[in-house]
Amino acid sequence: MQVHTVGEGTPEVAVVGAVHGDEPCGARAIERFLATDPDVDRPAKLIIANERALEDNVRYVETDLNRALPGDPESDLYEERLAHELLTEVEGCLSLGIHSTVSSERAFANVAYLNERKRDVVAHLPVTAAVDFTVVADGRSVELPGFVDIEAGYQGSERAVDNAYDCLVAFFQHTGVLPGDPPAPDPGFYEVSEAIYKEPGESYDVLAENFERVAPGETFATADGDALVADEAFWPVLMSADGHDVLLGYRSTYHGPLSTVEVAAEAERAPVADDATDD
Ligand SMILES: [Zn+2]
Repeated sequence: MQVHTVGEGTPEVAVVGAVHGDEPCGARAIERFLATDPDVDRPAKLIIANERALEDNVRYVETDLNRALPGDPESDLYEERLAHELLTEVEGCLSLGIHSTVSSERAFANVAYLNERKRDVVAHLPVTAAVDFTVVADGRSVELPGFVDIEAGYQGSERAVDNAYDCLVAFFQHTGVLPGDPPAPDPGFYEVSEAIYKEPGESYDVLAENFERVAPGETFATADGDALVADEAFWPVLMSADGHDVLLGYRSTYHGPLSTVEVAAEAERAPVADDATDD
């Protein structure tokens, strides 16, 4: 794990890239930022998490780092040890994780257990949507009370690097690391209700567009040529034919602009965060 610090003092702000090794945009955005020799008003950490997986261009080496939190320093598995290390590094930090997908070129935020602090971060990122994954959060960084992820665009694309960099700068402006005003786009808020799984061995086509409403009775995908028809309306998120072995994507409900969504006033404690932070 690479940990870079800019500025003087103990950072309370962190950006984390390459949690998944086949999503290089976060690491590239961090390198781009460091190459500017930035003059910061407040210290910050920049972490390239899974260097081994990044080098091999694979999601993970032994197990998915973003399902392994809080991790275990004694584990036999590389990413479980890494998860513990990562959690130690971001302890006490408001953090932005950078990911990318095979399902959307648009940058969107990925949150769970939304609280005011997280909503405030997302409200000032140049993203077009905020997706709440609380129902499927399981050992993911976004369960932490001060951690928000972005999905910056297509894996391996230049646009994902540009989006990641823009989000990094906006996050640092919002947190006072960099001068200047971050954007305030008030993205749409989508709450994931369930995963849609594939049948093993079947070949899929996705007909619906991510973030666009699927009407009841609409065919949103095909499996070996057979129509998959929506029983009720939903908004697809992270839906792609070939992005994942067993997962086609997620159903979500659109709740309107983020600013209109009620959130917990106090940081809610997710199970993974119990020994991770005191705030
Ligand atoms: Zn990822």
